Amino acid sequence: MKGIIMIIDGMADRPLEELGDKTPLEAAKTPNMDRMAQLGVNGIMDSIKPGIRPGSDTAHLSILGYDPYTVYTGRGPFEAAGVGVKVLPGDIAFRCNFSTANEEGIITDRRAGRIRDGTDKLVDTLNSMELEENIEIIFKESTGHRAVLVLRGEGLSDQISDADPKHDGKKFKKVVGLDGSPEAERTAAVLNKVIKKSYELLVDHPVNLKRLENGKNPANITLPRGAGAVPNADPFNGKYGIKSACIAETGLIQGIAQIAGMDVIEVEGATGGIDTNLDNITSSILKNASLDYDFILINIDGADEAGHDGNLNEKVEFIEKVDDVIGKVMEIKDVYFILTADHSTPISVMDHTGDPVPLVIKGPDLRVDNVNKFNERAAASGGLCRIRGSDVMNILMDLMDRSTKFGA
Ligand code: ZN
Ligand code: ZN
Repeated sequence: MKGIIMIIDGMADRPLEELGDKTPLEAAKTPNMDRMAQLGVNGIMDSIKPGIRPGSDTAHLSILGYDPYTVYTGRGPFEAAGVGVKVLPGDIAFRCNFSTANEEGIITDRRAGRIRDGTDKLVDTLNSMELEENIEIIFKESTGHRAVLVLRGEGLSDQISDADPKHDGKKFKKVVGLDGSPEAERTAAVLNKVIKKSYELLVDHPVNLKRLENGKNPANITLPRGAGAVPNADPFNGKYGIKSACIAETGLIQGIAQIAGMDVIEVEGATGGIDTNLDNITSSILKNASLDYDFILINIDGADEAGHDGNLNEKVEFIEKVDDVIGKVMEIKDVYFILTADHSTPISVMDHTGDPVPLVIKGPDLRVDNVNKFNERAAASGGLCRIRGSDVMNILMDLMDRSTKFGA
């Protein structure tokens, strides 16, 4: 038997007056999800704990069986892994902006005119940077003005402040150690040098001279923030004795899979938005489910985006489109298929909340319950009752007959 967990990011919600007191999931036409609820065992899940508002990263860690309170050190490491830096435990990773600075170090545009092209060339130049300290500097471009930075070497710490002033018109901030440790002091000193050198290397860079010629703001400085030490996470495959893959749209979730040691499958046209190519995602799921993977984690992100935007119609429409994907995945044979969300992203809040999310498991030999709709309220009366994210892999491994007995 195989296992599939499909996470429709931020799908769960709260009742809305404009929907006659229904949630978007209750209002959406979802014949396939409802059929899955009828055929399966249902419940609600707190991805971390009741009332805790999860990030997508901490929620996914928890659902994969990692304790986010020990493994999670910030977004930096997962973003870095997600854009393809092979991070190692102990590396310090940052999210960065390419920004525009003037000669006094005042940041005149935090997003460097929303630069789209040429950041790979800027990164090549930045990666030639040498420091007296024995520390390796790894920059990698991400989308738009975004990039990541990884510091690798002995005696580093993630307990340091951010350089990003967060507002245009302010000088970039001097990075300082936060816990008084020599490691934090050293890392802060290194980072201050890296920022200064980034300006020296980029100010006359051909990419920037060209931008100036075209009246665009140059990307002449990098501003790191969100330092996080790459966690020493038990490899997922070894932990459960399985071969696993992840199909996800965002660098954040791909990075979690990467750090956990799962195979990360890229899908063309997967944007993480409501415009994503769901046909390509479906084909990728069907193809990879026919390979020798025991477990596939899937994340589809558009409903979360619609939730953050407070766009009710888009959220309902996207859920209805995802329902078609679920119909196809339900046809895969010999699989325990779990459908859920990582957290609620209510339209009324436009951010994540701690409300539990519905979860359904379909597969052979289940104690099928009486739930016949897939939504937040119907699921609450199902046979799984209320579980936590950290229960999900245990339940799946037990069903897949890959658990060992605890005791005699
Ligand atoms: Zn999420
Ligand atoms: Zn979100």
